[in-house]
Amino acid sequence: MDVTALLDPLNDAQREAVGGPPGHTLVVAGAGSGKTRVLVHRIAWLIQAEGVSPFGILAVTFTNKAAGEMRERIEALVGLPATGMWVGTFHGLAHRLLRQHHAEADLPKNFQILDSADQQRLVKRVLQEQGLDESSWPVRQVQGFINARKDDGQRPADIDHRGDPYHRTLLELYRAYEEACRRAGVVDFAELLLRAWELWRDNPGILDHYRRRFRHILVDEFQDTNAIQYAWLRLLAGDSGTVFAVGDDDQSIYGWRGARVENIRRYSQEFPDVVTVRLEQNYRSTGHILGASNQLIARNPERLGKELWTETGHGEPVRIYDAFNENEEARFIGRRIQQWVEGGGRRDECAILYRSNALSRVLEEVLVHSGIPYRIHGGPRFFERAEIKDLLAYLRLVASRDDDPSFERVVNTPSRGIGERTVDNLRQIARERGLTLWATAWEAAGNGQLGARATKAIQRFLTTIEELEQAIDGLSLAEQVETARQHSGLADHYLQKEKGERGQARVDNLDELVSAARAFELDPGDVDTEDLLGAFLTHASLEAGEAQAAAGEDCVHLMTLHGAKGLEFPLVFIAGMEEGLFPHRMALEDGNRLEEERRLCYVGMTRAMSELYLTRAESRRLHGREGHTRPSRFLTELPEEHVESVRPGRAPSAPAAAPAPDTEVGEGVTLGQRVHHPTFGEGVIIDCEGDGPRARLHVNFDDAGLKWLVASHANLTPA
Ligand code: ATP
Ligand code: MG
Repeated sequence: MDVTALLDPLNDAQREAVGGPPGHTLVVAGAGSGKTRVLVHRIAWLIQAEGVSPFGILAVTFTNKAAGEMRERIEALVGLPATGMWVGTFHGLAHRLLRQHHAEADLPKNFQILDSADQQRLVKRVLQEQGLDESSWPVRQVQGFINARKDDGQRPADIDHRGDPYHRTLLELYRAYEEACRRAGVVDFAELLLRAWELWRDNPGILDHYRRRFRHILVDEFQDTNAIQYAWLRLLAGDSGTVFAVGDDDQSIYGWRGARVENIRRYSQEFPDVVTVRLEQNYRSTGHILGASNQLIARNPERLGKELWTETGHGEPVRIYDAFNENEEARFIGRRIQQWVEGGGRRDECAILYRSNALSRVLEEVLVHSGIPYRIHGGPRFFERAEIKDLLAYLRLVASRDDDPSFERVVNTPSRGIGERTVDNLRQIARERGLTLWATAWEAAGNGQLGARATKAIQRFLTTIEELEQAIDGLSLAEQVETARQHSGLADHYLQKEKGERGQARVDNLDELVSAARAFELDPGDVDTEDLLGAFLTHASLEAGEAQAAAGEDCVHLMTLHGAKGLEFPLVFIAGMEEGLFPHRMALEDGNRLEEERRLCYVGMTRAMSELYLTRAESRRLHGREGHTRPSRFLTELPEEHVESVRPGRAPSAPAAAPAPDTEVGEGVTLGQRVHHPTFGEGVIIDCEGDGPRARLHVNFDDAGLKWLVASHANLTPA
């Protein structure tokens, strides 16, 4: 077999890394320079040129998707199934180890894994047991404390509270939580890693077995490893194993989850004779995209510092699109994708990236209406998200008490102390008597057959729904949804249940449902406007039921910037380039987080191979509010020579659905024009929706603010 063929498709620096003698190797290099390619080729090289058995190889990547792809690429290169090799994420590998050695790890054979929501419930119980009040000891904070300690490899005994009563209590909670996990035979995510590390530390025989087996350890995205993952690698490598690590300090985007970018530096200091290879040629992106990305990241201090270059020529400049509002932004993106496809491109060459999941709703709507199949990665579609279904279930119950699935969904969400047993009882009675759950609950609450506590809880739920019905009477659709949001208590529920950004993202989505209702109100389409709530609920079910593009179907990819790590696409859009959205408002308060946001922007921009669009909306209706936005500082940080601004109308690719500024959108008025209104005074027409007698104009009045007006009755005159 000619092993040099493995080196042929590589440049000199890459060859040095792939074909170097077995030993510790660190490849630090910017985005798109071939780090993952080098790692895959290295594995093939070890097998073919060095005669290493696949059994002796352990490779760690960041996502399960990446692990699957890596295995495929190795098999394609080697031409054989790579059985015996361990490829996976840190969590996946740790889990595998613990299953195999559960007894030594002091776990029951069938130990279960707690997800974040389960973990919160357990923390809650521990707080109750300890007689502590959740308002002083918020569940999310306690959970965050425990996980952060575990990510740093610390058990309660390792932590010194230095006499501080606050810390002492947190430590006691950590201890009590551990005990509760032990009793229940469960482990959380952070525990998987810590326990796997301790398994090796405390069982030299087992460690020795794995050290003998895995002489070759390879790690992708090394910059995002946390302390315990690093310690785990170090323990496994011992004195005889070699670690081949590839990473990019500029792409460290998980600091908020405990990742330690210093691990790159530590690795080269703590492991002997590390050969460092730098890759500087970028093969992914054109010159303009790379130039803009390089200069953006250059603003971050304390970088390892590296510049990338490319041979592919300048290509197209990075395009910045200032849309009037979020609908127009989405339509622009949809139209551009259609052009791409008309020009012979495939849909799966296109990706739309955003900082927060809530942004996907408007994009999804436009894609659905334009008949462009799409797939959302790393999360369900908007109307399928748990919190959205919860809130809709409240409204559905208001609309129809017979809706049993909705009843079941929210009877104990947020928690009202109605246990599974009570719900089971209700179900059984309902079945026997042929009643709906609502009717059954009503009866049972009346005759007290469920026991005092359950009866009270059920009554509370019934009252909530009854009161909600009264509260929304006579309100507009958007106000109805907003009222349901408040009455349901779902926002607090999710903030309690899930920590940090995740909980906040759910709340943002709930607010976004209010926006969706407002948009629906303005343009309900061909429905019965007498029952707008009913029509909206149907609309939501249809949107949710709309099957996502089937696996393998040619479809556009939607995902968060975090989820895009390691991937590449010819045409990339980053939507919502606005202060507060990106950089995210939570990061704006903290300088370190701002740098992490900038790295995230660098990650996003460097996903693009040939065309990159950064879009923003001058006015955005999001999270139920509408307002003017300021462009993201990252836009202003891009060098002029690499960017081009495409304003609506001037763009060669202006979206067909949005009229260009000069087209008439109403009696003698045009988009972008200053107009006068008898009541609201002067303003600018910033958007229009629909046509014919139903056409509406969106006008930004100097004093009265944003208003939607029906074009045919607006009485606007040029100002
Ligand atoms: P990221 O930092 O985003 O993870 P990376 O450094 O891992 O990027 P790869 O994904 O490995 O980069 O490579 C980027 C692209 O460049 C891929 O399409 C890859 O196939 C291509 N590539 C890498 N090296 C070469 C080469 N020597 N010749 C041709 N193409 C290459
Ligand atoms: Mg990579």
